[in-house]
Amino acid sequence: MEIEIATIGGYEEVGRQMTAVRAGDDVVVFDMGLNLSQVLIHDNVETEKMHSLDLIDMGAIPDDRVMSDLEGDVQAIVPTHGHLDHIGAISKLAHRYDAPVVATPFTIELVKQQIEGENKFNVNNDLVKMEAGETMSIGDSGNVELEFVHVTHSIIDAINPVVHTPEGAVVYGLDKRMDHSPVLEDPIDMKRFREIGREGNGVLAYIEDCTNAGRKGRTPSESVARRHLKDVMTSVEDYDGGIVATTFSSHISRVSSLVEFAKDIGRQPVLLGRSMEKYSGTAERLGFVDLPDDLGMYGHRKSVDRTFKRIMKEGKENYLPIVTGHQGEPRAMLTRMGRGETPYEIDDGDKVIFSARVIPEPTNEGQRYQSERLLRMQGARIYDEIHVSGHLREEGHYEMLQALQPQHVIPAHQNLKGFAPYVDLAESQGYALGRDVHVTRNGNMIQLVE
Ligand SMILES: [Zn+2]
Repeated sequence: MEIEIATIGGYEEVGRQMTAVRAGDDVVVFDMGLNLSQVLIHDNVETEKMHSLDLIDMGAIPDDRVMSDLEGDVQAIVPTHGHLDHIGAISKLAHRYDAPVVATPFTIELVKQQIEGENKFNVNNDLVKMEAGETMSIGDSGNVELEFVHVTHSIIDAINPVVHTPEGAVVYGLDKRMDHSPVLEDPIDMKRFREIGREGNGVLAYIEDCTNAGRKGRTPSESVARRHLKDVMTSVEDYDGGIVATTFSSHISRVSSLVEFAKDIGRQPVLLGRSMEKYSGTAERLGFVDLPDDLGMYGHRKSVDRTFKRIMKEGKENYLPIVTGHQGEPRAMLTRMGRGETPYEIDDGDKVIFSARVIPEPTNEGQRYQSERLLRMQGARIYDEIHVSGHLREEGHYEMLQALQPQHVIPAHQNLKGFAPYVDLAESQGYALGRDVHVTRNGNMIQLVE
């Protein structure tokens, strides 16, 4: 059976991920992501109303025109998890394929909400839920199968999809951390990866997330970030002024730790900002997290302002606002608080907890700097980097190669510079660049079996 891989997006950047695997006549697409920084760099761009081709020209979504060179039918579009760089282009591209979107329940719900917010296209693809550990037959040949393996990442319900073919398995390894003691869900299913590496014809190809390939050691567990957070929150238990926290709104485990520790130090947590309301509301509705009944979640400007007024009236010392804006995004809640645009007043000595790391990218770094300066000018004290990454470091990469023993590896989720440390690592394990390590760019095809 012919096996071919199209590297469509996310091979020159972190963002707009998209990869397709052709097994005989059948094609499975992994991810259709948005490169948000290419959107935010322009003022007031509303992607909901924009055409795909304009977004492709901006470098915001994958240039999927290369798909017409793949001789097969797309049978499934498979987003691996709910981050925007993996699902953000589904509303712009999926309608061009006569195939269902297949994902885990939390991811499917986020895809559904995104499609509902789309103003330009009518996206009618079936949305099919499949849990980690389950499989689905692909196409009519009877010997291609899709499997979901549970992985741990900075968003719940993430998987690595595997396409089983008569030539071996193709494992799509974006995005994960090897977490054996996560906070809200099961540990990563390494047992299944080891089985896949040894059954049948083994693993033909492994597409790997190189985000942290240049970092030594292992990525700490979410339980480490949780302990760090608890230490910080406990240390400010006796402070009788304002404490504000911010984190990734899609990071449900972290948000739930913040909520829990707020209660522990005698403060009422409240989630503020549109995306805080969206992700936590969705996770709670689907039963992924049990948040306190009295937890307020407010997204609309008016209800947020009303909540801030109530907090100021009843005393800041009684509350912990958990807000958007950990990267200093100009329109996010914390940035507005820094600019003095909300009724919440920051006083000298108030605490601001960033349970996030600055995404190392000039736009983010500049915006975050600005936001922090504005908060400091009002006297705020900053606690930052209370966070662990969602991506494997060196030791995780070694472990994956050992578990899967793939014939070919394809570095992804980085630019050329970011691939280099992974290529070195793979070569130290007996692979060779150009032979079985395939460094590539957006829009290329790799023929593995002719
Ligand atoms: Zn991710």
